[in-house]
Amino acid sequence: MPHVIIVGCGFGGLAAARALAGAKVDITMIDRSNHHLFQPLLYQVATAGLSAPAISAPIRSILAEQRNVTSLMAAVADIDVARKTVVLEDGSEIAYDYLIVAAGSTHSYFGHDEWAPLAPGLKTLEDAFDIRRRILMAFEYAEREDDPVRRAEWLTFTVIGAGATGVEMAGTLIEIARHTLRGEFRRIDPHQANVVLLEGSDRVLAAFPPDLSEKARMQLVKLGVDVRTGSRVTGIDQECVRYTDRDGDQRLASRTVIWSAGVAASPLGKALNVPLDRAGRVPVGGELSIPGHPEVFVIGDLAAVTSEGKPVPGVSPAAKQMGRVAARNILAHIAGKAPQNFVYQDYGSLATIGRKAAVAMVGKLKFSGYPAWLFWLFIHVYFLIGFRNRLMVMTDWAWAYLTFKRSARVISSAIDTPPSKPRDEAPTS
Ligand SMILES: Cc1cc2nc3c(=O)[nH]c(=O)nc-3n(C[C@H](O)[C@H](O)[C@H](O)COP(=O)(O)OP(=O)(O)OC[C@H]3O[C@@H](n4cnc5c(N)ncnc54)[C@H](O)[C@@H]3O)c2cc1C
Repeated sequence: MPHVIIVGCGFGGLAAARALAGAKVDITMIDRSNHHLFQPLLYQVATAGLSAPAISAPIRSILAEQRNVTSLMAAVADIDVARKTVVLEDGSEIAYDYLIVAAGSTHSYFGHDEWAPLAPGLKTLEDAFDIRRRILMAFEYAEREDDPVRRAEWLTFTVIGAGATGVEMAGTLIEIARHTLRGEFRRIDPHQANVVLLEGSDRVLAAFPPDLSEKARMQLVKLGVDVRTGSRVTGIDQECVRYTDRDGDQRLASRTVIWSAGVAASPLGKALNVPLDRAGRVPVGGELSIPGHPEVFVIGDLAAVTSEGKPVPGVSPAAKQMGRVAARNILAHIAGKAPQNFVYQDYGSLATIGRKAAVAMVGKLKFSGYPAWLFWLFIHVYFLIGFRNRLMVMTDWAWAYLTFKRSARVISSAIDTPPSKPRDEAPTS
């Protein structure tokens, strides 16, 4: 039987595998992690609202019933399209007849990779654990700090980038400070914490229409977030973020910085030896294969695709739809039939901001506030994988809604020594 290799069991890869269930093909699913991750709720793990198993599930168990799939936990290091093989990190090779590359995306620091350890981005469970630890430790350090200036630095949280993830992070951080931690500290008042959202462009949620962006900004401000649009970050160190705005250069004293400003395609795209676009994505035709190789498909965040003349966004519904079309085109190729062209079905956009605050756009319908938040809750529970995950998330959310408490606040490692360089200049904001 033809051998199909799928690299990556995210939204795109999993949809492709499922669309090939029952087909006369042997599938090898290769992923470097052992779990499928529901990234839209990752910020909830980073902010201690949900535990990791609530939003992820073992790939082996998800695909256990699908007898034509073998799952391998391994990182693909290279692809040789001429020899039709993928090369794993240990140098071993696996041959394919058809290949679907669905390796997703990673963070982009716009040429400033030195910022990565100072301002982690959110993409994997490891990132979420790292961010959760930094947030909770910042309050711990603040409680131990005698110097009021340093204490204020620990209690200032900066989120860079006001896309959906940045907005969600900022809205949840302020809820933690104002509600979750209330009454738990003796020397600090967590309510005094500042959450600053820095955005280079002139509005938050730039992918939404301007009126919804403005509603989102107003909801953030109402929750207590300090929203600074038109602010381009120029430097990050352990004690501050530097940026420029219309008034010139600014210094924001802040010891916890979260990056949600840039996305770049997975570096695996380079292995295909085709010219990539500026974000490192692989341009593919309407049938989703690369030029000259009708057996090699690229889907999801890694693919640069247009549908009806418009670029397809890097969102989970697009990745799933591409996965299904790639699977159908493999079966069409095997049967000697013409491939199907990918047409993106846009069902709308949603972003949550905090408790009872969200914006939504479904077709021509735009709404915000409580109804949008309820709709967001419903959609995210509905699309979670597995009944157990849905039950866990609903229980944790119901508990959090009623008590303002967050159920996943346990951090495991011992206390690091906080960075304690002498202050070289006074904070200006
Ligand atoms: C924090 C966050 C929030 C988001 N929120 C939303 C949202 O609310 N709504 C929405 O529609 N979209 C959202 N997205 C975007 C959405 O998650 C992506 O568009 C979608 O995951 C893309 O699917 P994919 O299959 O291309 O890649 P992914 O789902 O990222 O899957 C890629 C898989 O490839 C594996 N992999 C990568 N490299 C290798 C390698 N070399 N070898 C083996 N395996 C490899 C990874 O382990 C991963 O399992 C969000 C993304 C993030 C990061």
